[in-house]
Amino acid sequence: MNRALELLHSVFGFQSFRAPQEDIITTLVAGGDALVLMPTGGGKSLCYQIPALVRKGCGVVISPLIALMQDQVQALQQLGVRAAFLNSTLDASTVRQIETALARGELDLLYLAPERLKQQRTRELLQNSNIALFAIDEAHCVSQWGHDFRADYLELGILHQLFPDVPRIALTATADVRTRNEIITRLDLGSARQFIAGFDRPNICYRITLKENPRQQLLRFLKTEYPHAAGIIYCLSRQKTEETSTWLQGEGFNALPYHAGLDARKRADHQARFQREEGLIMVATIAFGMGIDKPDVRFVAHLDMPKTIESYYQETGRAGRDGAPATAWLLYGLQDVIKLRQMMAESEGSDEHKRAEQHRLNAMLGLCEITSCRRQSLLRYFGDDMAQPCGNCDTCLEPVSTWDGTEAARMALSVVFRTGQRFGVSHLIEVLRGAETDKVFQFDHHHLAVYGVGNALDNNQWRSVFRQLVARNFLSVDIDRFGALKLEEKCRALLRGEETIALRRDEKTKPLKKTSTRKTLVSEAPFDSDPLLWEALRECRLQLAEEQKVPPYVIFHNSSLEDMCRLMPQNLSACGEVSGVGERKKEKYGPAFLDVLKSFLGHRETVAD
Ligand code: ADP
Ligand code: ZN
Repeated sequence: MNRALELLHSVFGFQSFRAPQEDIITTLVAGGDALVLMPTGGGKSLCYQIPALVRKGCGVVISPLIALMQDQVQALQQLGVRAAFLNSTLDASTVRQIETALARGELDLLYLAPERLKQQRTRELLQNSNIALFAIDEAHCVSQWGHDFRADYLELGILHQLFPDVPRIALTATADVRTRNEIITRLDLGSARQFIAGFDRPNICYRITLKENPRQQLLRFLKTEYPHAAGIIYCLSRQKTEETSTWLQGEGFNALPYHAGLDARKRADHQARFQREEGLIMVATIAFGMGIDKPDVRFVAHLDMPKTIESYYQETGRAGRDGAPATAWLLYGLQDVIKLRQMMAESEGSDEHKRAEQHRLNAMLGLCEITSCRRQSLLRYFGDDMAQPCGNCDTCLEPVSTWDGTEAARMALSVVFRTGQRFGVSHLIEVLRGAETDKVFQFDHHHLAVYGVGNALDNNQWRSVFRQLVARNFLSVDIDRFGALKLEEKCRALLRGEETIALRRDEKTKPLKKTSTRKTLVSEAPFDSDPLLWEALRECRLQLAEEQKVPPYVIFHNSSLEDMCRLMPQNLSACGEVSGVGERKKEKYGPAFLDVLKSFLGHRETVAD
């Protein structure tokens, strides 16, 4: 373990291992297999990179994300690790060079596309080389039920037969038990030690807001909180991603669309730009996901509600991989619920399948409507219990008030019943509020006992009541009649007066108080850096990145720059104290950053004189 710790300091520039990393590394170094389930940003890469350096031979990493191999390899080379990749993007002579290096024992890590393992040539190459371990990244790709299934992953079971003595580690961030079991069976990992970390992403602040005027809400969010940050905005339809990105460009943001309807070249180009540029916003459908490894995505916004908590967790999980504060921001409203319920009812599939989907949608709605801590509820869904409210979600930061909605709910249910369960929300509200519309007269609804009884609440308040009744399954949406509401079994007790109901008070949305966002920022990065110094350090990083044609975070993550502001190193050896600065980077980049720090101090003294 000493050797592992030494490498952590000297190569990666980190102080200590995170809890599970140490055990995983010990297991592999000793030749054992491991199954690792750790949330995004948890630090999975070190779990195989360090054992690969400690053990004799080359670590072979199987990864489906061809687009990312180059970045990962570049990042390792920056640290002085002898890394390379083999995939279909290379020409024959480069391939031969790498193969030779591997056979000669001149590589520490080799990233390999899974389809390569089918080739006899690759198998022979590996058999003639000294292999330290196999790491199977994104191991959930072996699951035929998941949306990331890769047929080539099924072949990976053979590794164990071909290389019985080489330890294997399978890694994933996918949470559910079924996928986990499938990984074990298909990859023949029955005797592997399992490392199942919790699912919490403490640096992500979860915020769910009622949809009022989505564009204005989004604009306010971006302008007040993330004017220059990289982020992803998810929309349900392709058209909406295009419209939203064009509109954001008009508002002065650097935004691009991404969806499966764009031609492959454009898609790849947009993804590459997102990966490489700073502060780019990707407006995307769920087609954008796999293969995004950008550590400094500061926010993930949803303009439409995801269908399940699994998708919500996975999509929001792309924020804040670097561990710095990030925001998951979701807008939802009654129309989302109606639209999703309709899509689901119209989808193909057995009744059983539809019921399961319905159930998952209800859980997602529950998360939106909840008045207690979002994180507790999110984690509970995955079977993780969190003792205390988190203090880093909207309901914790600004507690929601509730009101006794029993009377209003009864009126709402009874207007649904009296009008024959054939009408949508707008008309129902008009009846309750005694509106004199053509439709009211046409159907004779002004003669109903419920006509005009609901004047105490305004239109928005009524929409809120109906939304919550639908979300909580007192009402359902009839798909055969465009959004007509119907009573559900569950509403009986409420109608009979045997039950009361507390409803969420929908406040007009305001940006989270500056103090509260600030509080979370401060707890993550306990310092106040000078904005001038910060910009100067980023500029220095950008220049170095451009010279070498790598993304800026490959030079240093933000956390390293933050550490520089805090520690203000004045010489090379002090530079080595900065998190993320190992031996190689200290020598290579230390002087340039020291210059920036020195000239900043000089400048500050002149100003002080
Ligand atoms: P994952 O693959 O699990 O999403 P990564 O391996 O990319 O996560 O690690 C996430 C971030 O955490 C990276 O910026 C990485 O450098 C950092 N990190 C990982 N382990 C440590 C550690 N022991 N100390 C400090 N930072 C770490
Ligand atoms: Zn909370």
